[in-house]
Amino acid sequence: MPHGDEDCALPFVEANGGELWVDVLEETLKKGLAPNSWTDYLYLSVGGTLSNAGVSGQTFRHGPQISNILQLEVVTGKGEIVICSASKQPELFHAVLGGLGQFGIITKARILLEPAPQNVILLILILIHEEIHEN
Ligand SMILES: Cc1cc2nc3c(=O)[nH]c(=O)nc-3n(C[C@H](O)[C@H](O)[C@H](O)COP(=O)(O)OP(=O)(O)OC[C@H]3O[C@@H](n4cnc5c(N)ncnc54)[C@H](O)[C@@H]3O)c2cc1C
Repeated sequence: MPHGDEDCALPFVEANGGELWVDVLEETLKKGLAPNSWTDYLYLSVGGTLSNAGVSGQTFRHGPQISNILQLEVVTGKGEIVICSASKQPELFHAVLGGLGQFGIITKARILLEPAPQNVILLILILIHEEIHEN
Protein backbone atom coordinates (compact mmCIF):
# COMPACT_ATOMS: atom_id res chain seq x y z
CA MET A 1 0.00 0.00 0.00
CA PRO A 2 1.52 3.36 -0.93
CA HIS A 3 2.40 5.76 1.83
CA GLY A 4 -0.18 8.50 2.24
CA ASP A 5 -3.21 6.21 1.87
CA GLU A 6 -5.44 6.22 4.95
CA ASP A 7 -6.61 2.65 4.21
CA CYS A 8 -3.08 1.29 4.60
CA ALA A 9 -2.99 -1.91 6.66
CA LEU A 10 0.37 -1.03 8.23
CA PRO A 11 0.46 0.01 11.91
CA PHE A 12 0.13 3.70 12.66
CA VAL A 13 -0.30 6.10 15.57
CA GLU A 14 -2.50 9.18 15.56
CA ALA A 15 -0.75 12.07 17.29
CA ASN A 16 -1.80 15.65 17.98
CA GLY A 17 0.05 18.35 16.04
CA GLY A 18 1.48 19.85 19.22
CA GLU A 19 2.83 16.52 20.52
CA LEU A 20 6.61 16.18 20.80
CA TRP A 21 8.21 13.33 18.84
CA VAL A 22 9.94 12.11 21.99
CA ASP A 23 6.50 11.59 23.60
CA VAL A 24 5.16 9.85 20.48
CA LEU A 25 8.11 7.47 20.66
CA GLU A 26 7.58 6.80 24.37
CA GLU A 27 3.95 5.81 23.74
CA THR A 28 4.57 3.65 20.66
CA LEU A 29 7.46 1.82 22.36
CA LYS A 30 4.91 0.44 24.84
CA LYS A 31 3.63 -1.62 21.88
CA GLY A 32 7.13 -2.40 20.59
CA LEU A 33 6.66 0.00 17.66
CA ALA A 34 8.33 3.22 16.53
CA PRO A 35 7.76 5.76 13.75
CA ASN A 36 9.56 4.87 10.50
CA SER A 37 11.23 8.21 10.02
CA TRP A 38 12.67 10.72 12.45
CA THR A 39 14.41 13.97 13.07
CA ASP A 40 17.76 13.59 14.83
CA TYR A 41 16.53 15.91 17.61
CA LEU A 42 13.27 14.63 19.18
CA TYR A 43 12.08 17.64 21.19
CA LEU A 44 10.28 19.07 18.14
CA SER A 45 6.53 18.99 17.53
CA VAL A 46 4.76 16.68 15.07
CA GLY A 47 3.11 19.65 13.34
CA GLY A 48 6.36 21.61 13.29
CA THR A 49 8.49 19.00 11.53
CA LEU A 50 5.67 17.84 9.21
CA SER A 51 5.30 21.42 8.00
CA ASN A 52 9.01 21.28 7.09
CA ALA A 53 10.18 17.79 6.05
CA GLY A 54 11.61 15.85 8.98
CA VAL A 55 15.03 14.53 8.05
CA SER A 56 17.35 12.20 9.94
CA GLY A 57 19.60 9.18 9.70
CA GLN A 58 16.64 6.99 8.62
CA THR A 59 15.68 9.23 5.70
CA PHE A 60 17.83 7.25 3.25
CA ARG A 61 15.70 4.18 4.03
CA HIS A 62 12.13 5.52 4.45
CA GLY A 63 12.22 9.06 3.09
CA PRO A 64 11.53 12.13 5.24
CA GLN A 65 8.77 12.15 7.87
CA ILE A 66 6.36 13.79 5.40
CA SER A 67 6.58 10.62 3.24
CA ASN A 68 5.42 8.47 6.16
CA ILE A 69 2.07 10.07 6.95
CA LEU A 70 -1.23 8.35 6.19
CA GLN A 71 -3.71 11.06 7.07
CA LEU A 72 -3.91 14.56 8.51
CA GLU A 73 -6.51 16.60 10.33
CA VAL A 74 -6.02 20.20 9.24
CA VAL A 75 -7.60 23.50 10.24
CA THR A 76 -7.74 25.57 7.06
CA GLY A 77 -7.51 29.35 6.72
CA LYS A 78 -11.33 29.42 6.60
CA GLY A 79 -11.48 27.74 10.00
CA GLU A 80 -12.74 24.44 8.60
CA ILE A 81 -11.53 21.16 10.09
CA VAL A 82 -10.64 18.86 7.17
CA ILE A 83 -9.46 15.24 7.15
CA CYS A 84 -7.12 14.72 4.20
CA SER A 85 -4.89 12.00 2.78
CA ALA A 86 -3.34 10.97 -0.54
CA SER A 87 -6.81 9.87 -1.70
CA LYS A 88 -9.07 12.30 0.24
CA GLN A 89 -8.49 16.01 -0.43
CA PRO A 90 -5.02 15.16 -1.82
CA GLU A 91 -4.15 18.74 -2.83
CA LEU A 92 -4.54 19.96 0.74
CA PHE A 93 -2.67 16.90 2.09
CA HIS A 94 0.36 17.43 -0.13
CA ALA A 95 0.32 21.21 0.29
CA VAL A 96 0.25 21.06 4.10
CA LEU A 97 3.05 18.46 4.34
CA GLY A 98 6.19 20.57 3.99
CA GLY A 99 4.00 23.67 3.54
CA LEU A 100 5.62 25.76 6.32
CA GLY A 101 2.22 26.36 7.91
CA GLN A 102 0.96 28.37 4.92
CA PHE A 103 -1.89 26.03 3.88
CA GLY A 104 -3.38 25.06 7.25
CA ILE A 105 -2.58 24.01 10.78
CA ILE A 106 -1.92 20.31 11.39
CA THR A 107 -3.98 19.30 14.41
CA LYS A 108 -3.62 15.49 14.04
CA ALA A 109 -1.40 13.17 12.03
CA ARG A 110 -1.52 9.42 11.40
CA ILE A 111 2.12 8.35 11.46
CA LEU A 112 3.38 5.05 10.01
CA LEU A 113 5.07 2.72 12.49
CA GLU A 114 7.42 -0.24 12.29
CA PRO A 115 8.71 -2.73 14.88
CA ALA A 116 11.17 -0.89 17.11
CA PRO A 117 14.68 -2.31 16.94
CA GLN A 118 16.03 -3.81 20.19
CA ASN A 119 19.46 -2.27 19.67
CA VAL A 120 20.83 0.50 17.52
CA ILE A 121 24.32 1.71 16.77
CA LEU A 122 24.81 5.46 16.42
CA LEU A 123 27.83 6.47 14.38
CA ILE A 124 28.73 10.12 14.04
CA LEU A 125 31.39 10.82 11.46
CA ILE A 126 33.17 14.15 11.65
CA LEU A 127 35.14 14.94 8.53
CA ILE A 128 37.83 17.57 8.95
CA HIS A 129 39.31 19.03 5.83
CA GLU A 130 42.60 20.79 6.36
CA GLU A 131 44.45 22.59 3.65
CA ILE A 132 48.20 22.33 3.96
CA HIS A 133 50.07 25.30 2.61
CA GLU A 134 53.74 24.76 1.89
CA ASN A 135 55.98 27.81 1.91
C1 LIG B 1 17.46 22.09 17.93
C2 LIG B 1 16.83 21.77 16.59
C3 LIG B 1 17.15 20.59 15.98
C4 LIG B 1 16.56 20.28 14.74
N1 LIG B 1 16.85 19.08 14.16
C5 LIG B 1 16.23 18.75 13.02
C6 LIG B 1 16.47 17.47 12.42
O1 LIG B 1 17.24 16.65 12.91
N2 LIG B 1 15.80 17.17 11.29
C7 LIG B 1 14.91 18.05 10.72
O2 LIG B 1 14.33 17.70 9.69
N3 LIG B 1 14.68 19.25 11.24
C8 LIG B 1 15.31 19.63 12.38
N4 LIG B 1 15.09 20.86 12.90
C9 LIG B 1 14.22 21.78 12.17
C10 LIG B 1 12.76 21.53 12.50
O3 LIG B 1 12.22 20.54 11.65
C11 LIG B 1 11.94 22.83 12.31
O4 LIG B 1 12.56 23.87 13.03
C12 LIG B 1 10.52 22.61 12.81
O5 LIG B 1 9.71 23.69 12.38
C13 LIG B 1 10.55 22.56 14.30
O6 LIG B 1 9.33 22.25 14.81
P1 LIG B 1 8.82 23.02 16.12
O7 LIG B 1 7.96 22.04 16.82
O8 LIG B 1 9.95 23.57 16.91
O9 LIG B 1 8.01 24.15 15.35
P2 LIG B 1 7.78 25.66 15.77
O10 LIG B 1 9.09 26.36 15.99
O11 LIG B 1 6.76 25.69 16.84
O12 LIG B 1 7.15 26.16 14.42
C14 LIG B 1 7.96 26.42 13.29
C15 LIG B 1 7.04 26.65 12.09
O13 LIG B 1 6.44 25.40 11.72
C16 LIG B 1 5.12 25.58 11.32
N5 LIG B 1 4.24 24.83 12.23
C17 LIG B 1 4.44 24.53 13.55
N6 LIG B 1 3.44 23.77 14.02
C18 LIG B 1 2.58 23.60 12.98
C19 LIG B 1 1.35 22.89 12.82
N7 LIG B 1 0.78 22.23 13.83
N8 LIG B 1 0.74 22.94 11.61
C20 LIG B 1 1.29 23.61 10.57
N9 LIG B 1 2.46 24.28 10.65
C21 LIG B 1 3.09 24.27 11.84
C22 LIG B 1 4.83 27.06 11.36
O14 LIG B 1 5.12 27.61 10.10
C23 LIG B 1 5.83 27.57 12.37
O15 LIG B 1 6.15 28.91 12.13
C24 LIG B 1 15.66 21.19 14.12
C25 LIG B 1 15.34 22.39 14.77
C26 LIG B 1 15.90 22.67 16.01
C27 LIG B 1 15.51 23.96 16.69
